[in-house]
Amino acid sequence: MFAKTFKQMGINVKFINSDNLEDFENAVTDKTKCIYTETIGNPRIKVADIEGLAGIAHKYGIPLVVDNTVATPYLCRPIEFGADIVVHSTTKYLSGHGNAMGGVIVDSGKFDWNQNDKFKMFTTPDESYHGIIYADEFKEAAFIAKARAHLVRDLGCCQSPFNAYLTILGLETLHVRMDRHCENALILAKYLESHPHINFVIYPNLVSSPDYKLAQKYLKKGASSLLGFGVDGDGTKFIEALKLFIHATNLGDVRSIITYPAGTTHRQLSDEQKIQAGITNDYMRASVGLENIDDIKEDIENAIKISRT
Ligand SMILES: *Cc1c(COP(=O)(O)O)cnc(C)c1O
Repeated sequence: MFAKTFKQMGINVKFINSDNLEDFENAVTDKTKCIYTETIGNPRIKVADIEGLAGIAHKYGIPLVVDNTVATPYLCRPIEFGADIVVHSTTKYLSGHGNAMGGVIVDSGKFDWNQNDKFKMFTTPDESYHGIIYADEFKEAAFIAKARAHLVRDLGCCQSPFNAYLTILGLETLHVRMDRHCENALILAKYLESHPHINFVIYPNLVSSPDYKLAQKYLKKGASSLLGFGVDGDGTKFIEALKLFIHATNLGDVRSIITYPAGTTHRQLSDEQKIQAGITNDYMRASVGLENIDDIKEDIENAIKISRT
């Protein structure tokens, strides 16, 4: 969407592939309208320095928007670190059972849309809505009022009642599920780290992770269910041998799910783009579910054996 669809709409997105905050700051121009990040990026499972990014955004009078889908509000509350707007796909952990699609926008109400002339949608009259000026009329709720009054009306992006019902039902167990996701993922990460036929493991809460310090700051209760690893064997054989893990492109389901980015989600990228996104041919991305950890380990162990035959 950022690379293709937005471009057709005249919105240009610069992708900053760096751990260095200066690279983000150097990319900001007079035209920049916001900085956008995921708390835990997919598929290479990187942790964002939310406070650092918020500092840069605010220095240039633009909001920081955080996609907090993978952390969920149970593990991280980005607004407390300076984020202005937080979005979630509720399709994932918030509903939790892979049965309902949806999304939410959380407006912190802290961003001042009047501080410069970059945000005319909020600071000039909306002809399609009684000529109101959202920043004046709704003050701190300007962004979310615009989204609801104008854009939901025009674009029709509202949820079906049954999906809302399933989402609310799932939400009641979020805290219990997230604890188990984090516990299972960390045990599996440590297990794979010492495995002779695993090339590498990516999990932010491993002490060996380059993101460990960021995880200690932003993800105190745990680092969620996403776990990456490289299999020293045939990738397709590995995927096909798994019995407990479901091979699907979803995440945040109570059931363990695995994707093989080089063979599926990222297959359309050129080799160069794949390398840039950190997608090697041995790379597997798991969303570790709530099953018994011994069953999870046994499934992986069996698939590793078959991948090497
Ligand atoms: C799945 C996902 C989305 C898209 O959400 P849908 O509910 O599938 O439309 C956006 N951001 C992240 C991080 C996701 O995992």
